[in-house]
Amino acid sequence: MNIAILGAGIVGVATAYELAADGHQVTVFERHASVAEGASFANAGVLAPGYVTPLAAPGMPAKVLRYLLARHAPVRVARPLAGADLHWMTRWLRACRSDAYATNRALLQRLAFYSRQRLHEVAERMDYTFERSTGYMVLLRGERERQMAQPGLAVLREAGVVFHEIDGAQARAIEPALNPATPLAGAIHLPQDEVGNCRQFAVILRDAAETLGARFCFGAAVLPLDAAAPSTLRATGASQAERFDAVVVCAGVQSPALLAPLGIRLPLRAVYGYSVSAPMPDGGLGPRSGVMDERFKVAISRLGQRVRVAGSAEIGGRPDAINHRAVQTLYKVLDDWYPGAARLSRGVQVWKGARPMLPDGPPVLGASGVPGVWLNLGHGSSGWALACGSARVLADQIAGREPAIDTSGYNVGRYR
Ligand SMILES: Cc1cc2nc3c(=O)[nH]c(=O)nc-3n(C[C@H](O)[C@H](O)[C@H](O)COP(=O)(O)OP(=O)(O)OC[C@H]3O[C@@H](n4cnc5c(N)ncnc54)[C@H](O)[C@@H]3O)c2cc1C
Repeated sequence: MNIAILGAGIVGVATAYELAADGHQVTVFERHASVAEGASFANAGVLAPGYVTPLAAPGMPAKVLRYLLARHAPVRVARPLAGADLHWMTRWLRACRSDAYATNRALLQRLAFYSRQRLHEVAERMDYTFERSTGYMVLLRGERERQMAQPGLAVLREAGVVFHEIDGAQARAIEPALNPATPLAGAIHLPQDEVGNCRQFAVILRDAAETLGARFCFGAAVLPLDAAAPSTLRATGASQAERFDAVVVCAGVQSPALLAPLGIRLPLRAVYGYSVSAPMPDGGLGPRSGVMDERFKVAISRLGQRVRVAGSAEIGGRPDAINHRAVQTLYKVLDDWYPGAARLSRGVQVWKGARPMLPDGPPVLGASGVPGVWLNLGHGSSGWALACGSARVLADQIAGREPAIDTSGYNVGRYR
């Protein structure tokens, strides 16, 4: 088939690779000049399937209210708030019920475990390596964090995830550069989880997709799909419309606007986050792999010779407005755990990214209901951890093959 993919974030590139590997003729349209310039640009890089959970969770509404007054809040509400943000928040509140949470968490983790397997298979086939490291640790500063981690551990046990509940001294042995002056009651160590450079992987995967015959068109912003001819695309810079057999929408936070003329209304909103990346002149002073500060919900990862600190979940506000308090929290947490690891005088990159977030958590994956239009979007906080599995599932669905995992629950029908 002749298939168009809209968006070259990690999800679009992975989809291009899988469809090209299946022998389809693939064209990717991306409005930016390269791959992974949107939400996939500078994320934390964490690949921890057991920790892929929905933002909508029991107890979260009360926490969000408490955070409204906190200086270093992991979740923030910013102004202006659009009507669509309020609508999203209403649906999010409903998804915080414990039964909905259990269902959505199971859906996310099923896809995340499959995705890790698929990432490994794909990475093994490629000629290039990318920045990656093994092991992930959740740092529990005090007894309160240790208690609060317990329900999550029960879930990990149930899912058969390999993890170790360890004390502060054991955690410091695994990550020797952790600041001895910062109190650490214990940690959850996940030896099989990992950190990887999402953008770098997307660049390599683009190359692999091109080798398989995929075509990438950059600087090509596709106009919203036309209900009369949904698989005929018009893009900026192109002299005429192009007709395809199928179209896959992987356009992150812009996806709802592309789909609106088809009557497909998705409650997908941007939930913003920030990262700071800095050179690490002495690698011995930084993380060996990835850690997550459970109190501040901030991840610190090693990406080659750089350290990246990432966090914050902010609904509302303007895409280009930097919340300096959120960025200060990142610097604080980095300094708490790895003082002196980052060179902050030059070469520092501060980034704001828009997670394409659906209110309940799992992405939308599969046929849209409009002939020829397929969806692979809404991967929220875990698009890197979910991309390779989602792409393979979608390619199987397009081929009419049974995907390796049960895909009921990811379809767009849940929003009708
Ligand atoms: C601070 C932060 C930390 C994160 N940490 C992690 C992590 O540790 N692990 C993890 O798994 N995930 C993490 N995430 C989430 C992850 O980065 C996202 O889920 C993922 O990048 C989404 O990928 P995507 O391809 O769907 O979207 P994007 O990367 O945004 O790609 C969508 C692309 O579509 C293009 N596009 C949109 N409209 C059009 C159009 N009309 N025409 C052409 N192109 C178009 C855009 O330009 C963009 O390039 C984090 C996110 C943030 C913000």
